[in-house]
Amino acid sequence: MLVSLCDLGRTPAPFSSSLSVLNPSVVSDGCYISGLLYGDRGVNNAVSSAAGDHSSSSSDHEEEDEEDEEAGGDSSSTTTGSASPVPNSYESLEGGGYSDLAAPPAGVPTKQAPPFGYNYPTMHPAYQQNPAPKPDPSPSHGGYNPPGYQPYSQPFPSLSELSSALGGLGGVSELEAETLRPVNLLQERNILPPKRTPPPEPNLSNDLRKVNCSPDTFRCTLTNIPQTQALLNKARLPLGLLLHPFRDLTQLPVITSNTIVRCRSCRTYINPFVSFLDQRRWKCNLCYRVNDVPDEFMYNPVTRSYGEPHKRPEVQNSTVEFIASSDYMLRPPQPAVYLFLLDVSHNAVESGYLNVFCQSLLDNLEKLPGDTRTRIGFVTFDSTVHFYNLQEGLSQPQMLVVSDIDDVFIPTNDSLLVNLKESKELVKDLLNALPGMFMHTRETQSALGPALQAAYKLMSPTGGRVSVFQTQLPTLGAGLLQSREDPNLRSSTKNVQHLGPATDFYKKLALDCSGQQIGVDLFLLSSQYSDLASLACVSKYSAGSVFYYPSFHHIHNTAQRQKFQKDVQRYLTRKIGFEAVMRIRCTKGLSIHTFHGNFFVRSTDLLSLANVNPDSGFAVQMSIEESLADTSLACFQAALLYTSSKGKRRIRVHTLCLPVVSQLSEVFAGADIQAISCLLANMAIDRSISSSLSDARDALVNAVVDCLTAYRANGSNVQPSGLIAPAALRLFPLYVLALLKQKALRTGTSTRLDERVFSMCELKSQPLPQIMRMVHPDLYRIDNMTEQAALHLNDSVIPQPPLLQLTAEKLTREGAFLMDCGSVMYLWVGKCCNETFIRDVLGYPNYASVPSNMTEIPELQTTYSERTQAFISWLLESRTFHPAFHVVKDDASTKTSFFQHLVEDRTESAFSYYEFLLHIQQQMSK
Ligand SMILES: [Zn+2]
Repeated sequence: MLVSLCDLGRTPAPFSSSLSVLNPSVVSDGCYISGLLYGDRGVNNAVSSAAGDHSSSSSDHEEEDEEDEEAGGDSSSTTTGSASPVPNSYESLEGGGYSDLAAPPAGVPTKQAPPFGYNYPTMHPAYQQNPAPKPDPSPSHGGYNPPGYQPYSQPFPSLSELSSALGGLGGVSELEAETLRPVNLLQERNILPPKRTPPPEPNLSNDLRKVNCSPDTFRCTLTNIPQTQALLNKARLPLGLLLHPFRDLTQLPVITSNTIVRCRSCRTYINPFVSFLDQRRWKCNLCYRVNDVPDEFMYNPVTRSYGEPHKRPEVQNSTVEFIASSDYMLRPPQPAVYLFLLDVSHNAVESGYLNVFCQSLLDNLEKLPGDTRTRIGFVTFDSTVHFYNLQEGLSQPQMLVVSDIDDVFIPTNDSLLVNLKESKELVKDLLNALPGMFMHTRETQSALGPALQAAYKLMSPTGGRVSVFQTQLPTLGAGLLQSREDPNLRSSTKNVQHLGPATDFYKKLALDCSGQQIGVDLFLLSSQYSDLASLACVSKYSAGSVFYYPSFHHIHNTAQRQKFQKDVQRYLTRKIGFEAVMRIRCTKGLSIHTFHGNFFVRSTDLLSLANVNPDSGFAVQMSIEESLADTSLACFQAALLYTSSKGKRRIRVHTLCLPVVSQLSEVFAGADIQAISCLLANMAIDRSISSSLSDARDALVNAVVDCLTAYRANGSNVQPSGLIAPAALRLFPLYVLALLKQKALRTGTSTRLDERVFSMCELKSQPLPQIMRMVHPDLYRIDNMTEQAALHLNDSVIPQPPLLQLTAEKLTREGAFLMDCGSVMYLWVGKCCNETFIRDVLGYPNYASVPSNMTEIPELQTTYSERTQAFISWLLESRTFHPAFHVVKDDASTKTSFFQHLVEDRTESAFSYYEFLLHIQQQMSK
């Protein structure tokens, strides 16, 4: 290693000098790309421009890594010509990408695609794409496998053999024929499948399917990758990936080995989709370089045999985790360090959150991820900042108050972040005392900014996680904010202002934190406007999480208190990775150009994640820079390098393989409408901040119009009238309408600014299933569930009521309906709901006696209660956060929020589903 340990991640304040010259638009847009741009690299590619803006302080700090040196000159980093990356020595560890695919210099776009949905060239009227698929497909293509072809038992198939045998099949499989079935949306009203739809299966051989990455981790908007950008443009669909890279797994092959085998050219990790030319050579599936098989790799630790490199676990599993050697460390792995930053102003005390938080931390202190090195600290703040000396041996915690908030300093050096094990009793004393300490406070001010600066200073030497609990607008010192919300404009149909930050203070601080491996998570518990658009930046750019509890009150808002309690419990105990970076690589010819999620883009394609948690999702957009005609498989690999809470350096690697296709019909057939909708949601959020909400909304509508127009223009057997979509895309208009009715994107319906911004944060950082439940909730009738078609799991019977369309037409007063919106669940009980259900499930004698603010349902010793509980538990099984629960009576105030989710229905300001279809049809005929 050429890096000396003292340099590690300690580059002096890299951002502060260069950020002051940032132009304001870059500050507000951050590292996100604005505009809904498909395909080609956009004009306003802020990834490269953001990197460019930080260039001044960086070039001297580029570190070399011996692995990269030995790869020769072909592994230089992908940074742009004029824009050196912000210094971060971790970058060189994970390794660079292709030198020949380097992004264009900042500000000099190579190709300029028009923003999607605007002014795209009209297609030639006589244009006829290939005929629609034959109705009678050859069944043999379903899982095509030529006789005798077994990629893993037959020694060393070459990549070209693999390709020609397995991918990009010329014909159309049965499955594809179904996904291409033309659906007349105006006539077919029941397009919603009765069960949650699984993601489409890529058209690959069974052998490849078996080893392919789980769609829960890695999904592509198009499971058939178009061969060229021209073909992608014809489909008018966005190409991108949705990732959930650090999700909780029940099974994960962990590999300890001296040599982690990677392509010498593009640094791809060896994976199930490489090909072995012979025992000693393998060919990279991303850049096609032929690499040597190292000696160690010839031994298979699983089978304990020699000479079968293709049977190693790395080549048999598309998700693996490597224990990294010291080559992947620039400093000894950091310990788990947790700092809690708590608002103790009058407002905070009044809300009662402190009690709930302190109790929860006391209950979970033993379960905080970490080891004997784990450190913990507390800072509280109101108009001043308070530190707590928890030095082992003290008889009680000592509070140190710093009132100079203009130049906040750390009052003592070594006893504010203490070893949890050694100081556990003092920590417990403090947690027991804290809620009472500020009980009678009269301090109404909030010096959040100075408190954050103090946290940064305290954490800088180690890195770690800062958890901020804030209950109001910061009013003192650096980062103070003013109210920007005009309550009279909450239901405006015009543009919504102030979606971006009011100051760059929080972003700058986040970048400083990110540079020192500090992640900041924000819990906002507030009944008043608190400018989440500004505050959230502190988490967005430091790879943190944002939680929001509007109108939180520990007594008056039971649902919020319960949700907060459960969220904090999950938050404190969930897995955490420190000092992480993530890089996504893809087959040569494809190019990633825009990233979505909470992180900072350090160089063109390296995501810096000071902390990584199992509940965050990410998305990327891609374009096709070179034709993929020479291959029939495209691969994508995400590598996440992190330090575990036990101080181990680990690399989690996921590899996804998809077929490449040359026909437009195949592109449509492989469309993954859920992934498309989630990617579009991310793009629309960026657009609403960089341009305007109405632009973002128009672009979403245009996405549907363009895609259906492209389908119509290229199909041969499509009727001229009606609104026709291929079956694979039949839910596209519905999902887009649902997106337009989200708090994040809606107009004309009263929406508090902070709630809108929070909804935006959720769409940008949640994994796909959570986004989909939020956008298009699942509705079930549950008062008459039978055992018919029920699942039988471990002695319990789980009823499977069918999914219902989101319209009031499906509700009846005689029924009870469960709506699952991801982070909230409603149980709507009709006025004439049968009393057996009310008695057996809710525990009340009749409808009138059911209280209007029920937030949980009791576990009763009745068959129907057990059945209902089994069903709800089953819905919650795969989810890490528990939703808030509301029993909604037809005459209660929660009714409005329940009915807002019935997205197919007309509202005062928004189309019904049918009206929306007519609108699309009208736009298409323009
Ligand atoms: Zn390679």
